[in-house]
Amino acid sequence: MIKAAEKIGRPVVLQKYGGTSVATAEHIRRVAQRVVARKREGNAVVVVVSAMGKTTDQLVSLSREINQRPPWREMDMLLHAGEIISASLLAMAIEKEGEPAISFTGAQAGMITDASHTRARIQRVQADRIVEDLGRGRIVVITGFQGITADHEVTTLGRGGSDTSAVAFAAGIGANECEILTDVDGVYTADPRVVENPRKLGWCSYDEMLEMASLGARVLHSRSVEIARRFDVPLLVASSFHEAAGTWICSKERGEKEFSDMETVSVRGVAHNSNVAKISLVDVPDHPGVAAGIFTTLSRYNVQILLIVQAEHRGGANDISFLVSAETLVHVEPHLHDLAKEIGASRVVIDDQVGTVSIVGDGIQSDPSIAARMFSSLAKEGINIDLISSSNLMLACAVPKKRLEDAVRAIHREFLE
Ligand code: ADP
Ligand code: ASP
Ligand code: MG
Repeated sequence: MIKAAEKIGRPVVLQKYGGTSVATAEHIRRVAQRVVARKREGNAVVVVVSAMGKTTDQLVSLSREINQRPPWREMDMLLHAGEIISASLLAMAIEKEGEPAISFTGAQAGMITDASHTRARIQRVQADRIVEDLGRGRIVVITGFQGITADHEVTTLGRGGSDTSAVAFAAGIGANECEILTDVDGVYTADPRVVENPRKLGWCSYDEMLEMASLGARVLHSRSVEIARRFDVPLLVASSFHEAAGTWICSKERGEKEFSDMETVSVRGVAHNSNVAKISLVDVPDHPGVAAGIFTTLSRYNVQILLIVQAEHRGGANDISFLVSAETLVHVEPHLHDLAKEIGASRVVIDDQVGTVSIVGDGIQSDPSIAARMFSSLAKEGINIDLISSSNLMLACAVPKKRLEDAVRAIHREFLE
């Protein structure tokens, strides 16, 4: 790995700005001023940007008007354009503020991925060109969310993937800091759009944040936290609009040493995800190899599985239910009936009216009263629990989508207010 800071002789700061933060020309101008100020403090600065405002959503809707099941490769061609607009405009805005800047696409910046279109995995970052331009005193602006395969195919990393680009570049360059600048001023105990009085966390461990993000707290793309943990890149989640102290995401050891306000609560936060659908295969014959067959087939269709539950029946058959992300449902749905036939299931049931609510915290499983309290708070609200899944770091329940936000508020009240 190239340690850019060593080559350049100045600390390297990587900042990532999300869509809301670059939504208009005026926003871009303000971001440019903030980036320039950071450089003038004596840093080399790399900026990763998302597409402006709702650009990606608009491009997705446009594609659906043309084709309900667009080829994944063409989706990548379409969607990667959004970030190119914001990156080039930001480079122009920085030049206008009096500092030299250059924008790069993911491909130009050396983001090499595998070929899984719309959810590509990063293979490596070839940061030479970035380091060279930083050395020349330029501010480097890179499009988030995208990369290129060894065969020069454009790929994207999945919705919300600019965070992952940012952390991968920070790790690849050996940046001293990775700041995720967004429309909230840190990571809260629950989504501030759903809960009225959530608390801002001073810090959070990589492991806890990874669970929060995987279970739906979209403030960080979960894969960005995985990379941060692997390369030990501390992340700061903070506001792009003002200077309030943000939330540090770092190792547990470092967090406990550096932040004396460590609370001894085991439930750190509540996460929810409304972007899921449940697929149930009913009366699946109970013999070895059936589950392997099902999930091998699903992996062929690039489906992300979020939670799996097998319920035992009498009479040699099981029901197997699993949650998938809603956007992948459209691609897997046409194959489900063939799959059911192949494995001898009697039918398939699809339910897109579910969501998940989860609590996250180190050691949750070791205290059985926590599960009891979570389920009681849902029962008190008359919310029925469908699937349940747990680990030492989380406890997740599928509940009806229309009661999801009530569930988040009830559980937050129980543990965190
Ligand atoms: P960006 O466009 O900057 O990437 P996102 O919309 O992807 O921003 O992520 C920020 C949003 O994440 C916030 O506006 C907030 O509604 C949501 N969010 C969900 N859970 C949390 C949480 N626990 N703490 C803070 N924000 C959260
Ligand atoms: N623009 C992409 C999206 O909206 C990536 C990102 O913003 O992180 O999903
Ligand atoms: Mg985001």
